Amino acid sequence: MSSLGRRPGMAVNAPSTELPPLIKESGQREVFCGLTSIVWLHRRMPDAFFLVVGSRTCAHLIQSAAGVMIFAEPRFGTAILGERDLAGLADANEELDRLVAQLLARRPEIRTLFLVGSCPSEVIKLDLARAAERLGAQHRGRVTVLNYSGSGIETTFTQGEDGALQALIPLMPMAPAAQAAQQLLIAGTLADGVEDRLISLFGKLGITNVATLPPRRSTELPGVGPGTKLLVAQPFLSGTARALIDRGAQLIKAPYPLGVEGSRAWMAAAADAFGIAPAQVAAVLDPLVERGQRAIAPHRETLAGKRLFLLPDSQLEIPLARFLSRECGMELVEVGTPYLDRTLMAPELTLLPEGTQLSEGQHVENQLKRLEVQRPDLVVCGLGLANPLEAQGIATKWSIELVFSPIHGIDQAGDLAELFARPLRRRSSLSFT
Ligand code: SF4
Repeated sequence: MSSLGRRPGMAVNAPSTELPPLIKESGQREVFCGLTSIVWLHRRMPDAFFLVVGSRTCAHLIQSAAGVMIFAEPRFGTAILGERDLAGLADANEELDRLVAQLLARRPEIRTLFLVGSCPSEVIKLDLARAAERLGAQHRGRVTVLNYSGSGIETTFTQGEDGALQALIPLMPMAPAAQAAQQLLIAGTLADGVEDRLISLFGKLGITNVATLPPRRSTELPGVGPGTKLLVAQPFLSGTARALIDRGAQLIKAPYPLGVEGSRAWMAAAADAFGIAPAQVAAVLDPLVERGQRAIAPHRETLAGKRLFLLPDSQLEIPLARFLSRECGMELVEVGTPYLDRTLMAPELTLLPEGTQLSEGQHVENQLKRLEVQRPDLVVCGLGLANPLEAQGIATKWSIELVFSPIHGIDQAGDLAELFARPLRRRSSLSFT
C-alpha cells in the first residue's frame, strides 16, 4: 500500500485524535459548475426564476441537467450572449433589459428573479450586480432582482446554492433579539418530505419555531438577528453560514445529518442549544436510531471492508466518508473535497478514522494516478470520470446523484447506504455472468 492509503493495521473505525493529513492541489478540475444547482433551487422556490446570463454551452448544460419541461412553464432560462455582444456592452445591457421585461410580462407569478452569471468572457465583462440594481429599480414593487455567480471558473456545482442564498440574506428581515433566540434556522435545501419530517421531529423534541433558508416561497424569508440559532444542513454553505453569522446568528456546531450517527448528533446539538435534556433527545430519537441501524445492516454486508476513494465534487465528501467508514465499515483510501472549510467541517474531521488521507482542490491527472495505484473498490466522482473508471473495472457512484436524492436524516440512512452498495452489487453480479 502506498503512503496515500490507510496505515497498515489501523482499525477502520478508530476516531481521529489529530487533524487528518491533507494534500492541497490545483490544476485541471473535472466538476460541474454552479449553474447546476438551479436544478434543485427552482423546484424549491416555485415563485423564483433563474435567468442564466451565459452562452449556448450554459443553455445546454441547464437544459440537459434539468430536463425540458413540456407541460409546465420552466422557471429557468438562458439569456445567450453571442460574440457580437463583445463589441458593445451597452447593447448587451439593453438586450438583457428587454428580455427581462418580456419575461415578467409573460410570467406574472415570478416574484424573485435571479440573474445568474457564468464564465464566458462576454458575461464576465457584464456587471450583473449593476444590472440587477437597474432592473430592480425598473420593476420595483413587482419583482426583486438579485444576482450571483454560477461560473465554472469560480464555483463547483453545489456552490451555486451558496451563492443564491447569500444573495437572499440581505433581504432577510432583522428579527428582534427575543424572537431570534427562540428560532432555529436550518440552512440548505432539503427534499420537502425530509424537511417536513425533521421539523416534526424537532417539534417532538420541543423546538417548535423552525425556519428554513431557502424558504419554499422566495418572498417568505425568515427573520434573522442576534441569537438566531443556525443549524447548517448542507456542508457546502460556507459563505451563507458566514453571512448569517455576520447578521448575528449563532452557529450550532455539529456533524451533518447524513447517516444515523450524523443525523442524531445534528439534532442533539440543536436540542442542546435550546437547553433540551439529553433524556428527551434519547426518548424521541433512539427508537429511530435502532430502526436506522437495522436499515443499514444489509448494505453494510456489501460495503464493509471495501476500499473507497472520493474525488472532489459536491463538498458532501467528508460527511459521506465519515458515514461510510463508521457506519458501513468501508475503508477510506482518499477523501477529496473541492474546498475544505475547517470551521464548518471541524465536527466531521474529528470523526474520521485516524490518518484518513484528505485532498483539497483538484489536479485530476494526479488524482487519477493515485487512484490507479490504489485500485479502490468504489469511487465517488463526477459524471465525466465515471465511464472511464467503469471501463477500467472500478465501480463508481455519481456524486451528483447525492444532491438529487433524499438522503438526510436518520430515516434515510438505509437508503443512503444502499446508494453506495448498489454499484458494488451490480459489478459483482456482472462479473458472474
Ligand atoms: S458557466 Fe461556464 S462551465 Fe458552466 S456551463 Fe456555462 S460555460 Fe460551462
